Amino acid sequence: AESREGFERVAEIDLSHIRHNVKRLAELAAPAKLMAVVKADAYGHGAVPVAKAALESGAAWLGTAHVREALALREHGIDVALLAWLHTADTPFEAAIEADIDLGVSGWELPVIAEAAEKAAKTARIHLKVDTGLGRNGATMERLPSLLVEAQQLQSEGKIRVVGIFSHLAVADEPDRTETDDQIQVFREAIALTEAAGFHLEARHIANTPGTLSRPDAHFDLVRCGIGIYGLSPFADQSSEDLGLKPAMTLKARVANAKRVPAHQGVSYGLSYQTNEESILVDVPLGYADGIPRSATYAPVMINGNEFRSAGRIAMDQFMMDVGPDQDPEALIGQYAILFGENGPHVDEWAAACNTINYEIVTRISGRVPRRYI
Ligand code: PLP
Repeated sequence: AESREGFERVAEIDLSHIRHNVKRLAELAAPAKLMAVVKADAYGHGAVPVAKAALESGAAWLGTAHVREALALREHGIDVALLAWLHTADTPFEAAIEADIDLGVSGWELPVIAEAAEKAAKTARIHLKVDTGLGRNGATMERLPSLLVEAQQLQSEGKIRVVGIFSHLAVADEPDRTETDDQIQVFREAIALTEAAGFHLEARHIANTPGTLSRPDAHFDLVRCGIGIYGLSPFADQSSEDLGLKPAMTLKARVANAKRVPAHQGVSYGLSYQTNEESILVDVPLGYADGIPRSATYAPVMINGNEFRSAGRIAMDQFMMDVGPDQDPEALIGQYAILFGENGPHVDEWAAACNTINYEIVTRISGRVPRRYI
């Protein structure tokens, strides 16, 4: 039961669901190890609690995009293998090396990291990032041979040690597409070149969640799972339930107001929605400043086990719902409106209503919404 000092608005994170999902993905990946991808504050779920739950239930590695995200985990006493892979000229490489954070490298970073390693008087651990077809960062296969020569030199000087090689899949969420086969083939060639250049690779990795679920031949030594550990499906035609995953986030808010209005009442900015008949309008205190996409139209919300729809434009702090004529407005005020999660609609329904993907819905829920861990 909630006290009066309870949450007006809350993103509840069920860590037992995170543990379930991690265990399931780790079992699927075995004998490959599992990296829990906790970038972007663990896709909005909270990096530190998720990282701890993931490590308790079978994850052996953690991954972030930015070094600063990885450093924040170290500051919370998390001392497992950690990889950060997206850098700029202002990335704190020296701090990363001091904190034993492995660094993904596309090319230009290598001499900069070597210099930072010299300052830190410590060898930097490197994972070479290869572009096997995604067309994002990573060294192309044309660039790889010269990168290996640079790496050999810096490794012989003790500044770096190449311990891994990795790549990222472009279309693994569409298992029928053949580009994944091509990417795995190119990745194998990159591994062969790197090993032939004398590097001993501890960690070869290319699979994200969809690759982990649909391509055992993409598992190699390590899989990097994000969306799956949050209990969401990366596939358009399979639900989280189909995959045996449990969504971890429930987003809800107490109804802030409810009132009876006449037929043809315009609702919210632009008056783009109008009541058909005399009806009850409900005000839910979550808006685009909280990360609710402004593009949400007719999105489902559950109150007391009844499903209603958002009405009119999403505002900065709130949105409205038309719950029809038969509700008691007094009784609705203070009830929880559940946008998605436990006892509510599925995140995938919100993603569909906003013309986006589940990744974006959960990741965008802003710091303005308190997280509660259960
Ligand atoms: N690996 C890299 C390099 C990524 O950027 C991401 C996230 O986009 C992941 C792994 C995790 O992907 P997913 O959430 O699909 O499992």
